[in-house]
Amino acid sequence: MNNLLKGGLALGGMALAAGGLKWALSSEPRYAPWEKPRFADFENRVLILGGGFGGYNVAKSICELTRKRDDIGVMVISRENYLTFWPMVPGVVSSDVGVRNIAQPLRRTLIRLGASFRRAEIEDVNFEKKTVTADGHQFPYDHLVFALGAEPNFFGIPGVEEHALPMKGISDAVRIRNRVIERFEQAVLEGDELPESALTFVVIGAGATGVETAAQLHVLIHEVLAQEYPNVNPNRFRIMLLDALPNILPELDAGLRRVARGQLAARNIEVMTNAMAEEVTEDCVRLKDGREIHTQNVIWTAGARPNSLVERLGLPLVQRTKGIKVDEYLRVEGFRNVWALGDNATIPNPDDGFVPPNAQAAVKEGKHLAKNILAAIDGRELKPFKYRSQGQLIDLGSHFAVNDVFGVKFSGRLASLFWRGAYLVRLDSPQGRVRQAFDWALEYFAHPTVAQIRDYQAAE
Ligand SMILES: Cc1cc2nc3c(=O)[nH]c(=O)nc-3n(C[C@H](O)[C@H](O)[C@H](O)COP(=O)(O)OP(=O)(O)OC[C@H]3O[C@@H](n4cnc5c(N)ncnc54)[C@H](O)[C@@H]3O)c2cc1C
Repeated sequence: MNNLLKGGLALGGMALAAGGLKWALSSEPRYAPWEKPRFADFENRVLILGGGFGGYNVAKSICELTRKRDDIGVMVISRENYLTFWPMVPGVVSSDVGVRNIAQPLRRTLIRLGASFRRAEIEDVNFEKKTVTADGHQFPYDHLVFALGAEPNFFGIPGVEEHALPMKGISDAVRIRNRVIERFEQAVLEGDELPESALTFVVIGAGATGVETAAQLHVLIHEVLAQEYPNVNPNRFRIMLLDALPNILPELDAGLRRVARGQLAARNIEVMTNAMAEEVTEDCVRLKDGREIHTQNVIWTAGARPNSLVERLGLPLVQRTKGIKVDEYLRVEGFRNVWALGDNATIPNPDDGFVPPNAQAAVKEGKHLAKNILAAIDGRELKPFKYRSQGQLIDLGSHFAVNDVFGVKFSGRLASLFWRGAYLVRLDSPQGRVRQAFDWALEYFAHPTVAQIRDYQAAE
């Protein structure tokens, strides 16, 4: 790429930064801290459980729609005080994406909007008394929203939970990155004595998360770390991608799937379809057809299920999915004032069975549910939720993506730029957006640097 284009990109990054900073500084908080009534004192209290894509968007939309009203209080309770911007999490593996850019602070944003926030673990709900217990404290509500997301599903396969690294969070992505660095360090010390199984990474699950994770592992090994370990041949590392289904990326059309598969093959990422894992041990993945893959590094992305807390609370569930059963207004079956959305719910879609559990849908559901809750408070008619997918964007790292946007299919470098632009715009935190734009502009001149913070969890 010539220097003129690089300069142009850097300038573009700076322009984005300036715009982002202006935006960040211009938004006025709704209340001065001493003016805001206590959540419990509002006439209509909307309590939202979970501060992910679904929960955050309900809270944000209600606050935006009620700026001139003082009868509606909104509180979000969530386990972490940040919103994880999931689509960029696989990028953390290679350090293409910075952790603090995609862990978007919930407290500051919600407080500025006029909502309340509590970082706490939800334990129980008393539907008769209309209270929620979180970290031992009671929270009253008039309207309750379940937005607790999903958790990994190991399908009872022996050994997965004990031996595989899940990919369900920023810490998991950092853990995977650290594992790769660890293997490079061992390879330097032990040379050829290090068994091949230590350098074999098997990603189980070839949906979007699995494919993106395998691609980012390749970037980390070949583009970032290889130059820092001149004594280690990066081609000793093996990356395998397994799926029980006949195809990778089943949600994409056949043409884009072929392009993605071709890209993976060009990078020596070995794809095995119709490969059902039956057992995972410390150093092996056993397949149903009897084959064995010797590996000490298994990454699990093959399944997710609605948060199991919703099952323990005795909510009505759709048996097949174990998601909360809601009607077309996103209201939980059998309740007038309890609502659910996102990955912990199974939502009917008029022409299409059920709404897919993804971020795009959760955001739309959040905005729609906000309007329905306000309609219920004001005694107006509720509107049914209908979902239409805008498409799929899959980042394969190394400036390559495969995209389907409203039926327009494209791939390659332009698709990668589109992927970055589309997700930068969707990052809610202006600071995160500006920093990530700068990081990507810098990347045209130098690869990201990587450090192994071994006590990452404790350091947080
Ligand atoms: C690695 C990865 C990559 C993904 N990439 C994409 C993508 O590119 N595009 C896309 O459309 N979708 C993607 N998804 C799916 C998408 O992230 C989810 O569908 C979306 O986040 C659902 O929103 P949600 O609000 O239901 O759940 P979440 O966003 O997961 O939010 C749930 C919230 O509830 C909180 N919580 C859970 N239990 C408790 C409890 N007991 N107490 C307190 N708080 C609790 C959690 O901490 C979390 O904040 C990805 C998912 C993963 C795992």
